[in-house]
Amino acid sequence: MGLLPGAGGADIGGAAGRPTATGVPHLTPPGARAGPGDLYPGGVIDLHTHSTASDGTDSPARLVEVAALAGIATLAITDHDTTSGWPEAAEAAGRYQVGLVRGAEISAIARTTGWGTGVHLLAYLHDPMHPDLLAETERTRDDRESRARRMVDLLAEDYPITWEDLLAQTKAGTTIGRPHIADALAAAGVVRDREEAFATMLRVGTRYYVGHYAPEAAAAVRAVRAAGGVPVLAHPGADGRGRVVPDSTVEELAAAGLAGLEVEHRDHTPDTRRRLRDLAESLDLLVTGSSDFHGAGKQNLIGENTTEPDVLEAIAEQGALAVLR
Ligand code: AMP
Ligand code: ZN
Ligand code: FE
Ligand code: FE
Repeated sequence: MGLLPGAGGADIGGAAGRPTATGVPHLTPPGARAGPGDLYPGGVIDLHTHSTASDGTDSPARLVEVAALAGIATLAITDHDTTSGWPEAAEAAGRYQVGLVRGAEISAIARTTGWGTGVHLLAYLHDPMHPDLLAETERTRDDRESRARRMVDLLAEDYPITWEDLLAQTKAGTTIGRPHIADALAAAGVVRDREEAFATMLRVGTRYYVGHYAPEAAAAVRAVRAAGGVPVLAHPGADGRGRVVPDSTVEELAAAGLAGLEVEHRDHTPDTRRRLRDLAESLDLLVTGSSDFHGAGKQNLIGENTTEPDVLEAIAEQGALAVLR
């Protein structure tokens, strides 16, 4: 198996070659990877990654290439509030023989907590043109831009940063986020990297922080389902970014159609993973694991957390689109 320089070889290699689950024929590439009698290719499955369509640092094609180099058999591209990276990723997936789950990470707000908690909802294999979901993500992306303008205005009172500096860190159509503000600050020599910017001026609660619009979480779950997608709650126990939702909110999302919980994630302690596994089991939800890879923008290594083949199979069965092989 090829490994990325500096990538966590043990983590990536560890999941490879385990026995494959019984699979579904439509996921098996003709003549590829599957052994005699196997319908399902198995291999390393990473269902949460970002490209330059949002705040990752690799283009969609490079992201797929990186996945191939790291020995990932099936990758999901899940940029924040956009599917604009799908065509390029799909073309590259064919070239590099990487299975591709087309997805997105939808920003949402759980209002049932009383105070409004930001949550991220992974959407897999949905119709990207479904009007309700498309309208919501467009509204979020528009407001992310207005919010970034307000943050840059506030930062410009104290630091050498302009809107043009921020735009220089994005491509046309990129979903703009705080990581791009961090990149602009780093380019100006104000901070070393994204990590430092997030630890200081970009943190929630500083005088530079501005929130943005996002749909209510249960409504977002319903919108993903209406679009034929499979909604999985991303890093539900990642308390490093603020408050996390209580179990009662997860129950409400499950009632609204939530399909799964992302349990295996860098931001979860072993204790949190155990708690979330139990919660998933009690609510009959799928359990996924993923890297949340952002290229050089974050320390997360592609393939550092993975999803079991039978879970991918269940997602594929529920989704409106096929997993590309
Ligand atoms: P935003 O959605 O614009 O509020 O920005 C949040 C995004 O910033 C998340 O998707 C994270 O991936 C990213 N992020 C959060 N903390 C850090 C960090 N310490 N270093 C790099 N990226 C981060
Ligand atoms: Zn991100
Ligand atoms: Fe997230
Ligand atoms: Fe993410």
